[in-house]
Amino acid sequence: MSIQNFANQFICDLVAYEPGKPIEETARELGLDPASIVKLASNENPLGPAPMARDAMRAEVDGVHIYPDGGGYKLRSALAEKYDLGLENVVLGNGSNEIIELLCHCFLNRDAELIAAEHAFVVYKLMATLFGAKYVEVADPDFIHDVDGMADAITEKTRLVFIANPNNPTGTMVNEAALDRFMARLPEHVVAVFDEAYFEFLEDAPDTLKYVREGRNVCVLRTFSKAYGLAGLRIGYGLASPQVTAILQKARQPFNANAMAQAAALAAIRDQDHVTKTLQTNNEGLAFYEKAFAERDLEYVPSFANFILVRVGDGDAVFQAMLEKGVIVRAMRGYKLPEWVRISVGTQDENERCITVLDEVFNA
Ligand SMILES: *Cc1c(COP(=O)(O)O)cnc(C)c1O
Repeated sequence: MSIQNFANQFICDLVAYEPGKPIEETARELGLDPASIVKLASNENPLGPAPMARDAMRAEVDGVHIYPDGGGYKLRSALAEKYDLGLENVVLGNGSNEIIELLCHCFLNRDAELIAAEHAFVVYKLMATLFGAKYVEVADPDFIHDVDGMADAITEKTRLVFIANPNNPTGTMVNEAALDRFMARLPEHVVAVFDEAYFEFLEDAPDTLKYVREGRNVCVLRTFSKAYGLAGLRIGYGLASPQVTAILQKARQPFNANAMAQAAALAAIRDQDHVTKTLQTNNEGLAFYEKAFAERDLEYVPSFANFILVRVGDGDAVFQAMLEKGVIVRAMRGYKLPEWVRISVGTQDENERCITVLDEVFNA
């Protein structure tokens, strides 16, 4: 008899999240120099952390024997001010992934249902399973969330509906009119979660904070991992109506946002220069990839984020062959897209290397 027989079966059956392959691991396995490897697999910021965040972290080092501010006062105040909300609207997370988990912790159980799009960010499904809830998947024609279909799928048992906007891995977006339609149909017993991890990359972002201000049952998720370049620190946040944040605050660990992360994030939101440079690099990179794919007759999904989905045939094989040449992309079998890979936008040098390696793989 194994200990597995005594654990929750729905957890033993879980297939764990597979992150982008780390540079060090790739170097070790293939005998490559880590410095020669380009990682375009986790939608990280190719320009690095915001310079003002680096300085803030250096200044914070000498104080890390002290527990962080568990209430996250300075960072939550700065975020509240930035978005013209109150302190009671902001909850911090160990990455926005933790807020996804907190939402599931608070609202899901074995009788509950979570609704998401067919090609949505895979963490929603993992979390629904982790809490024994039913995961309801709604078809997304052309990889765009069908929010009307998602509203149709709501039942008495539904507690959470996740709308990733833009979505990862598809890079597609739902417009504000569609979100308004969806919100008009949202019943009282359901929380709408707008996962906006790529919000800063949008030129014309739909306004979801108006639902927060109206006191609706919504939670808007944002992160410092992408545009701000702080993925390694694990810091994100939720913006929600006070009745929702009050529940989430009860479910979190007392020091879930660490001191270094709070200090860096506080500085990063003031580093507009870094965000501007990041957006410029990203826009140039997306245009470069779209042109490169069109020239090679490769199907791609036009993206609103800092990555792009491209159809390469055998995604696993192309991923592996590129890996052996020192370029890490992301295979998409786990998203039921075995013919596609997702490429994060890098610096112009990295993007060019990626296409060169892709050509070598295709011509091999
Ligand atoms: C990257 C990402 C996140 C957040 O990541 P954290 O690092 O945990 O903040 C959340 N949602 C989506 C859709 C993402 O792509």
